[in-house]
Amino acid sequence: MHYVSTREGKAAFSAAQAIVRGISEEGGLFVPAFFPHMGLDEIGAMAQKSYQERACVILEKFLTDFSAEQIREMVEAAYGSGFDAPEIVPVREIDKGRAVAELWHGPTLAFKDMALQLLPHLMTASAAQVGEKREIVILAATSGDTGKAALEGFADVKGTQCVVFYPKKGVSQAQRLQMVTQEGKNAHVIAVRGNFDDAQAGVKRIFGDPEARDWMNQQGKVFSSANSINWGRLAPQLVYYFSAYVDQVRQGRIELGDELNFVVPTGNFGNILAAVYARNMGLPIGRLICASNRNRVLADFLKDGVYDARRAFYQTTSPSMDILISSNLERMLFEICGREVAQVNEWMESLKKEGRYEVKGRALDALKALIWGGWAGDQAVSETIGQIWNRWGYLTDPHTAVALNVHRQYVEATGDERQAVIMSTASPFKFGKTVLEAIEGDVQAQDDFECCRLLSQKTGWALPKAIAELPGKPVRHRAECEPADMMDAVNRAMEE
Ligand SMILES: *Cc1c(COP(=O)(O)O)cnc(C)c1O
Repeated sequence: MHYVSTREGKAAFSAAQAIVRGISEEGGLFVPAFFPHMGLDEIGAMAQKSYQERACVILEKFLTDFSAEQIREMVEAAYGSGFDAPEIVPVREIDKGRAVAELWHGPTLAFKDMALQLLPHLMTASAAQVGEKREIVILAATSGDTGKAALEGFADVKGTQCVVFYPKKGVSQAQRLQMVTQEGKNAHVIAVRGNFDDAQAGVKRIFGDPEARDWMNQQGKVFSSANSINWGRLAPQLVYYFSAYVDQVRQGRIELGDELNFVVPTGNFGNILAAVYARNMGLPIGRLICASNRNRVLADFLKDGVYDARRAFYQTTSPSMDILISSNLERMLFEICGREVAQVNEWMESLKKEGRYEVKGRALDALKALIWGGWAGDQAVSETIGQIWNRWGYLTDPHTAVALNVHRQYVEATGDERQAVIMSTASPFKFGKTVLEAIEGDVQAQDDFECCRLLSQKTGWALPKAIAELPGKPVRHRAECEPADMMDAVNRAMEE
């Protein structure tokens, strides 16, 4: 299996090269040359396997430069005692026809762990594979959850530094504290005085800057990415779609071969893209429902084909989806236009110059047939959290609630009542204040942590250790910078 860039299309890269580089030199994203097909027999056989074994089946098809033995070791190191659920991704039915796949049982309580517990292993093995001797400097922009998951995954991994940029005013209290209290000699955390899009644009600028590359090279360092533009982030995400599907079969909610809908709370389009790829491999997926918050650029795009990022940016109660430039959409565009790099370049040029692009004709029809887009504002999200708790005794975080709300809208609009799995992306305790207010009304609490304690008391849901221990941890990272000065901030971090 080799990989090509969405903007160049010809040169072939190995999986290890794609993972070490993160992003291609002309700014494109690496995509698999083709999607290996899986028949129903092979998919069905996964039902009897553990999550780790399922991961090996999928990853072996894409990471062909590694032996099955190497992949098994990496998978076992990634999905082990750091997860507090033996199934790794439990799937629970909360309501007839609707189940949730809980992707947040990893160490940082959000779905980013599904990929970022594995990525450091993939990164170091890939570096060895391609003979990379330089120190790898991982740069990540975070809307809240990637940062902590990357820091945790890469903490004290030899031969790596991890630099995380987060929007100073755009993350929850728990998310911020998780990052600024991070231990590990190679951890660097920097607040950007801007929003997530500013941070993400800054990281992309550094990757695309030949001077910055040369400068790092002179110091024996090379940049790579832990954002979902990295193929090493996407590949592990394919696994849980297969896993959730066969669990639905095993639990008797569908027959092998029946189509299942998936509902995905979406920001950078990484999670939902993995579902598209799983479907391309033969997983029987019906419709994908792409759920946005008030920053509904994707919902609008999926209606009329106009992607227009020139709009007000809102801070919502689902901060990890407060994004106007969805990077991974580029990989989707590459597929729907029949892998025409000239067309992808035209769209991306237009996005850069004019802040918008338009998809028309067959490409738009193909997109709409597969993905339905909707959105939910903060008020609707709060009501959904309350309703799900009152009716089903199930606690859901605001991101998952966006998806639950949009799924209701989808069923009403289309009448499609097929069995659906909602991807649940964070623990409710990561957003304790929003969740407590949703089920209690106005609350008089000092801070997010008191909210979490009250939430645990009221619901009987155990307070996760990763949250309980946070207030007592010393703050280790205080750096801040302007969006324009992120490269200087990287240099200062490297001198620490
Ligand atoms: C990152 C994140 C999302 C959005 O996922 P994308 O892959 O960026 O679309 C949704 N919910 C939570 C809790 C997240 O951390």
